[in-house]
Amino acid sequence: MNLPQKHSATGTTIFTVMSALATQHNAINLSQGFPDFPLDEQLAKLLHEAAHNGFNQYAPMPGLPLLRQAVADNFKKRYNLDINADTEITITPGATYGIYTAFTSVLQPGDEAIILEPAYDSYIPNIEMNGAKAVPVSLVAPDFHVDWNTIKAAITPKTKALILNTPHNPTGAVWTKQDWDTLAGIVRNTDIVILSDEVYEQIIFDGQKHYSVLEHPELRQRSFALFSFGKVFHNTGWKIGYCIAPPDFTIAFRRIHQFLSFTVNTPGQYALAHYIMNNSAEPLHSMMQKKRDYFLELMKQTPFTIHKPAAGSYFQVASYERINSMPDMEFAQWLTKEYGVATIPVSAFYNNKKDDKLIRFCFAKKEDTLMEAVERLRKLS
Ligand code: PMP
Ligand code: GLN
Repeated sequence: MNLPQKHSATGTTIFTVMSALATQHNAINLSQGFPDFPLDEQLAKLLHEAAHNGFNQYAPMPGLPLLRQAVADNFKKRYNLDINADTEITITPGATYGIYTAFTSVLQPGDEAIILEPAYDSYIPNIEMNGAKAVPVSLVAPDFHVDWNTIKAAITPKTKALILNTPHNPTGAVWTKQDWDTLAGIVRNTDIVILSDEVYEQIIFDGQKHYSVLEHPELRQRSFALFSFGKVFHNTGWKIGYCIAPPDFTIAFRRIHQFLSFTVNTPGQYALAHYIMNNSAEPLHSMMQKKRDYFLELMKQTPFTIHKPAAGSYFQVASYERINSMPDMEFAQWLTKEYGVATIPVSAFYNNKKDDKLIRFCFAKKEDTLMEAVERLRKLS
C-alpha cells in the first residue's frame, strides 16, 4: 500500500540521526539540544509527590488551572504583563506540538507561511501537513539579522502566517525591540498571523533583554507565542510547554488541541505549577552564560572560528573553514566518528540544504563534558 507523503522532508530528523551516531561511536553529544545535567531535585520530588497524591487522571483540556495561573503570575512578575490564565494560556505537550497546533489553527490548503532560515526543522513539515506552502526567507550571516526587504518581497495575498524564533536556534541571534516594530509595520494592513517561537526566552546573555511578542500590544493581538518548560527547567523529556494567545486565537487553538492530544500529562503539570510558584534557583541566563563563556574560552584552543558569540539560546555556531572544506553534513559525521564529538550541520536548518560550512554546538552541558569535548577537538590543530 502507498500511504501519502504528507510533507516534503525525507528521512529522519537530524537530531535523531546525530544523537544515534553519537551513541554508536561513543562520542560526546553536543548535537541535539538537551542538558546532560540533572533537573532540580525539588522538581523531581514534586513529580513523585504528584503521582503519590493521586494526580494521575486527565487534567482539564486547557491545562491544570494551577499551572496556567502560575504561568500568568510568572509573566506578571517577569514581564509585568497581564495574561488571563483561563482565556489566553493553553498547556501543550511541548512547543513542537504547540507550533503544529497553531499552524493548524490558521492554515488552509493553498495558503502560504513565511519562515526565516536557518529554521527549526519542524516548521516546514508542519506547514505542509496543513496543505500550505512554506516560503523560506534567509537570515543574513554572520549575525543572522532579518533583511526586511526580503520579507516584504515574500508576502503575497496568500500569506497567512509568519513564524519567527528569538532567541534563535541554531544561530543564537536575538530580536531587538526595533525588529518587532518593523514587523508590526509590515503586517499592519494584512491578515498575517504571527507564530512567535520563544522557547529560549530565558536564555539571553550579556545583560540583554528578551523582547516577547506579548510585550508588543499591536502584534500581541495577532500572535501565538509558544514556550517550552523543557528548555527552562532542564527536563526536555517531560515534553510540556504552553501557548499564549489572545482569547479568539486561544479558542481556535483549543478547537484543534482537544482532538489532537486533548490534554497533557497531569503529574508533570502539578509538579511544574508548584515549582514555578516557589522557584529560587539561579536565573537560567546567568547559569547558561557561564557555560557559553567557558565553552568559548575553551574553543580558542581549537581551529574552529566563532564569527559571533551566541547572544541567546544554548547553541553556538562555528565555522570549520580552517580545518577542511567538506560539506557540513559530511564534516559532522566525520567529526563524530574520527574525533568523538557530535554536532549538528547547519545546512539541516535550510530547506535547500544551503551549506555555509557551519556546525552547531550545544553548550547546555556539564563543564566536564565541555572540557572533554574540547580536549578531543584540540587534536584537529
Ligand atoms: N522551537 C525551537 C526553536 C526549538 O529549538 C525546540 C527544541 N526543542 C522547540 C521549538 C521544541 O520544544 P519542545 O521540546 O518543547 O517540543
Ligand atoms: N530543539 C532541539 C535542537 O534543536 C531538538 C529537538 C528535537 O530533537 N526535535 O537540538
